[in-house]
Amino acid sequence: MPDKEGSIFKQLSNGWVPYSILVGPDGKVILWESEFQESGFSAAVEKIYEEPAQTEAPEPVLQAAPRRGPAYGANILILGGGAGGLVAAYQLRKRLSGRDRIVVVDREPNHLFQSSLLWRAVGMRQTEQIQRPLSDLTGTGVEFVNEPVVQIDPQRKQVRTSARELDYDFLIVALGAELAPQEVLGFEEMAFNLYDLDGTAKINAALNEFSGGEVAVLVTDMPFKCPAAPYEAALLVDSFLRKKGLRDRSEVHLFTPEHQPMPIAGPKLGEAITNVLGKRGIQYHPLFTFEWISPGDQTIIPSTGDPHKVDLLLAIPPHRAPEVIQYSGLIGSSGWMHVDSHTLKTEYDGVYAIGDVNNIRLANGKNLPMAGVFAHYEAKVAAEQIVAEINGEPSNASFDGKGFCWLELGGGKAGFAAGNFYAEPEPAVRLYPPMRSWHWGKVAFEKWWLRHWF
Ligand SMILES: Cc1cc2nc3c(=O)[nH]c(=O)nc-3n(C[C@H](O)[C@H](O)[C@H](O)COP(=O)(O)OP(=O)(O)OC[C@H]3O[C@@H](n4cnc5c(N)ncnc54)[C@H](O)[C@@H]3O)c2cc1C
Repeated sequence: MPDKEGSIFKQLSNGWVPYSILVGPDGKVILWESEFQESGFSAAVEKIYEEPAQTEAPEPVLQAAPRRGPAYGANILILGGGAGGLVAAYQLRKRLSGRDRIVVVDREPNHLFQSSLLWRAVGMRQTEQIQRPLSDLTGTGVEFVNEPVVQIDPQRKQVRTSARELDYDFLIVALGAELAPQEVLGFEEMAFNLYDLDGTAKINAALNEFSGGEVAVLVTDMPFKCPAAPYEAALLVDSFLRKKGLRDRSEVHLFTPEHQPMPIAGPKLGEAITNVLGKRGIQYHPLFTFEWISPGDQTIIPSTGDPHKVDLLLAIPPHRAPEVIQYSGLIGSSGWMHVDSHTLKTEYDGVYAIGDVNNIRLANGKNLPMAGVFAHYEAKVAAEQIVAEINGEPSNASFDGKGFCWLELGGGKAGFAAGNFYAEPEPAVRLYPPMRSWHWGKVAFEKWWLRHWF
């Protein structure tokens, strides 16, 4: 039967490019990605032949805490102290009594406000300005465990870190997306990671040394968090070079596998952003079939078309579900955790998954983008669901798919987009024209965020 309506194509593609799907001998989907990438594919094939012993977690060195009965209050574990984890902890603490225990586990000592990484890259922020110690949570009545999570056992309702076992009555998984630059040949040698603290600090140092040439922002793979970020990065770099008087000696390029900017928000918004790029002289390369990076001759190599020479490469690495999710067998066929799109409940008793780690399929067959704004609202809903369960009441808390984002344009201006991503048949998103006040709105939000939850 010909797929005339495109309904099968929509299920097996991200809307325009077919997914690569690899199924293991046990019938489980091992890899599900929207682009074919040799290194990621090979790694997934290798995984099929891995000895199970390699995936075993280390023995705990500390005693497990005894599970608490309802009379002692509930034990709530939040894995990840990022955007979603912080909001969930705050909401739960606000709504529950002191006998209910709330524990946040994160391998990092600090919460990082990731949106500000782009400002860090162009020197508008220093590292210490965009972080906050997670240990500050203890002042709000939330416990913090600074250890990596190495196993999640939903049957035994237990989480294992590198140093202990933690029981739970309710679990919120908010571990985000893991960055995998190691999957891209040549990344470590030639590219600066636009999505982490170390990478953006190095970008800033490199930009300060830069005397002109070709700068490129490269999206290596889909999906990636914050669909606006590569566009904002290119515009901020453009502004930086203008301010330094280097723009006429430089080119700014943006390479992406997408067919337009922020495709999920529709063609109108894409066209508006493409126009802004054009006006600023940024060379846009959509549908770029990126393959690998060749540090020897400083080029990025597509599977079709010519290699492109770059002097300064700012790259977004592939995103994967955190290893602990994969090894604990919590992964769905999308490669991410599956949840009810309104309650954020998983198929496991008492377990919720919020933010970048989950996968929510929209009415148009595409996925809800990974963004802090969704992690934020999903966290509130998951927390309210748990409060209702503890109180033995029904909950009407429901995630409605609404979200917003600022689009930083450089030169002290920003645009603003807001809409309903659960609208049918397509998300309904509106772009508000660029203004100075949107930029200041983004600054105010950053300040509020880094104070409010602690
Ligand atoms: C450059 C950039 C700009 C962005 N701009 C915006 C924006 O303007 N608007 C917007 O809405 N979104 C933006 N985002 C996206 C947003 O930051 C993420 O979508 C959001 O942080 C996701 O929240 P999360 O809680 O799911 O995961 P995260 O915030 O990534 O938190 C995950 C946490 O889990 C921890 N963790 C992971 N694995 C383990 C483990 N095994 N053990 C213990 N801890 C672990 C991590 O250390 C981390 O603290 C941006 C992202 C980037 C990189």
